[in-house]
Amino acid sequence: MKLHLPDEEAQVRFGATLASLLPPCAIVFLEGDLGAGKTTLVRGILRGLGWQGNVKSPTYTIVEPYELDGVHLYHFDLYRLADPEELDYLGLREMLGQGMLLFEWPERGAGSLPDPDCVIRIFHSREGRELTIEASNKELRRRLETALREF
Ligand code: ADP
Ligand code: MG
Repeated sequence: MKLHLPDEEAQVRFGATLASLLPPCAIVFLEGDLGAGKTTLVRGILRGLGWQGNVKSPTYTIVEPYELDGVHLYHFDLYRLADPEELDYLGLREMLGQGMLLFEWPERGAGSLPDPDCVIRIFHSREGRELTIEASNKELRRRLETALREF
């Protein structure tokens, strides 16, 4: 599935749409170069879940946890991960099944990450961005296809 998002506002709005489609413990990989718009999409997902506060990039902390009305979300940025084994120390195993897990730079955690429900790749395209979206199961794929048609 493909989608063109012309500006930052559209990127955030699509993130909010994603929030309504993804199951509560979804595992999402966000791929794309520095500046692609991965963190912007995470901000949209958080807005869609009702998070009003700041959304900072966990570049140095690797993971930023959020809690909204008892619902957890863990935002990872693995860009500076030295070794995929670090994920053990960060408590990844304990987070599984406890909330939504979003990974920027999943390539850097290869071998130590759970299988994703959804993989989103972001590319520069004209002034905006092009997203390719893959879902691992039929139901999510169907929901995404419907949402993309209406977006
Ligand atoms: P990443 O996390 O992939 O490094 P960011 O989310 O920090 O990237 O975004 C980098 C820049 O791209 C920001 O200035 C943001 O406003 C801009 N941006 C995000 N999405 C879009 C879009 N669809 N069109 C144009 N600019 C965008
Ligand atoms: Mg980022």
